[in-house]
Amino acid sequence: MTITTGANEIDRRLLMDRSMAGRKAFTVPISDVPDQDLPNDELLRDDLELPEVSQLEVIRYFSVLSQRNFSIDTNFYPLGSCTMKYNPKINDELASLPGLADIHPLQPDETVQGALRLLKDLQDCLGEITALPGVSLAPLAGAQGEYAGLLVARAYHDSRGDSARTVAIVPDSAHGTNPASAAMAGLDVVTVRSNEHGNIDVQNLRELANENTAVFMLTIPSTLGLFEPNILEITKIIHDAGGLVYADGANLNALLGLVKLGDLGVDICHSNLHKTFSTPHGGGGPGSGPVMVAEELSEFLPKPVAELTDDGYVLATPKNSIGSINGFHGSFSIAARAYAYIKALGIEGLQSVSENAIIGANYIQAKLKDKYNLAADRYCMHETVLSATRQKKRGVGGLDIAKRLLDFGIHAPTMYFPLIVDEALMIEPTESESKETLDHFIAVMRQIDDEIDSSPELIHEAPHDLPVTRLDEATAARKPILRWSADE
Ligand SMILES: *Cc1c(COP(=O)(O)O)cnc(C)c1O
Repeated sequence: MTITTGANEIDRRLLMDRSMAGRKAFTVPISDVPDQDLPNDELLRDDLELPEVSQLEVIRYFSVLSQRNFSIDTNFYPLGSCTMKYNPKINDELASLPGLADIHPLQPDETVQGALRLLKDLQDCLGEITALPGVSLAPLAGAQGEYAGLLVARAYHDSRGDSARTVAIVPDSAHGTNPASAAMAGLDVVTVRSNEHGNIDVQNLRELANENTAVFMLTIPSTLGLFEPNILEITKIIHDAGGLVYADGANLNALLGLVKLGDLGVDICHSNLHKTFSTPHGGGGPGSGPVMVAEELSEFLPKPVAELTDDGYVLATPKNSIGSINGFHGSFSIAARAYAYIKALGIEGLQSVSENAIIGANYIQAKLKDKYNLAADRYCMHETVLSATRQKKRGVGGLDIAKRLLDFGIHAPTMYFPLIVDEALMIEPTESESKETLDHFIAVMRQIDDEIDSSPELIHEAPHDLPVTRLDEATAARKPILRWSADE
């Protein structure tokens, strides 16, 4: 007798479909206290359909589900702009120490001096890394850091009676959150062009900067993965017009220990701890987007800011604070990871993070540029943007290439972003990948280009071996099925 094993078959049944009446995942000890009536019988419901399954079934179900995800712990994940790098597990362990993990935000300051010192020291580190010494850790995401920074800029202009400054100048190569945050902060958004080299069109900026300019927002490196070579001229143009310079430093992976934003004439920036500083981005967990400002703007920072006084460490409210932007003091556990990461690496370690991130991206760019067009043919920073226009002419677009990469165990790069590049594939290898991994990626990208001529159907039908193959993305987005239902 032959038994077909089905070892590679995936059990697609949902937990609900595995239900067996009467099966349980737990046992409750026999009660040794007298039964009590419920205060309100209507709180009891019989109509809830819950799966009846054993503990082992629950464990297997969720363990298998967890393995269906691509994650940085299982696969190369060159998702540009997101810095999906390996984050040392020891930082998770440190953030889980009881003295850090089991405290309450409303505890009196004197009972949490160590935690407050951690916040103060982290503020000082970030101030040092960016040369912008006023720091608030309150923002819970990069976009919220932008919003807070822009409110600081508005408060600064208002405090000087300069209330006609209502315009934010934003380059067309900015991260998408920049114009959105500016609009939310009540500013009118004006776009400045990039030139054919991917730099800000300085002449265009000169025409736009005037007495209405509140702030100029620069994503640096730009979403093309490029450093802005005219940055000093740009910050001067804005300052001469009376405006402030905001740098979107969400991703500091290219700048650590190499460039300080404050030294370039930047007045305000934010950075995502959940990209560069040891918390994964895009994991659906908490984020942290501290805002850093020049000395003279620190009185406007969102509260609270950790300070060292004669009575020890306290959470203080800056003199002319824009107020609270969330319930407490930001994402403490993310701050703890960032602190451990920065202290473990030290300034030399941080510098080598950025150097390796930059070398990795340039290595990929150099090895692929004969096959794929580049958004800009010059050295990149921590990420490179390819343009699959040559491939598109032969019938395979950026989306197809991204899907085919999945067959080789590689997460898709960021696609169709930045918007100013046709068929964009934005690749950020990060510093944590080995040369062998980069070589594997390069070989696969070259093979995919060859397949366009030899076997295009392989690409059009990809991915082939994943639990879910090519999706109808429009229907998935418009009519998502988010709940189990007995009828389906
Ligand atoms: C990720 C990112 C943001 C937004 O950060 P969120 O935490 O997702 O809000 C903003 N700007 C840049 C350049 C980024 O890379």
